[in-house]
Amino acid sequence: MAAVNVCQQCGACCAAFRVSFHVSELESEGGMVPDRLADEETHSTRRMRGTDYARPRCIALVGKIGESVSCGIYRERPSPCREFGARTDLGVFEPACNKARSIHGLAPLLIS
Ligand code: SF4
Ligand code: SF4
Repeated sequence: MAAVNVCQQCGACCAAFRVSFHVSELESEGGMVPDRLADEETHSTRRMRGTDYARPRCIALVGKIGESVSCGIYRERPSPCREFGARTDLGVFEPACNKARSIHGLAPLLIS
C-alpha cells in the first residue's frame, strides 16, 4: 500500500466507544484477546479496558490520536474492532467513524 492507511493516522474510534465482546473471544476461553486487557462487563461479555471511562481510550491503543497510532493487539483484537473500520478506497465506511473523529476534532472522511 503506497499511502498510510487513514486509520493509522487517526485512532479516534479506539477512544470514543465502549468495546464489548463475547467472553469466548478471551485467550483463556480459546479466543485471542489477552485476558489482562479486558474487564468483566456481564456474565457473558467483556470489554476492552479503558473504553468505558469518562474519557475513553482503549488500553491497547498506542500512539497519539490524529497523528500516528496502532493497535497493540492488532492480530488479537476482538470482533467489534475487526468489523469497524474505514476503507474509503474500497467504499467501505462505518458511519460512526466520523462521529468518533468529530469527538477528537478530526475532519470527517468522505467517500468518493
Ligand atoms: S475507523 Fe474511522 S475513527 Fe476509527 S481509526 Fe479509522 S478513520 Fe479513525
Ligand atoms: S483493541 Fe485495538 S482496535 Fe480495538 S479498540 Fe483497542 S486499540 Fe482499538
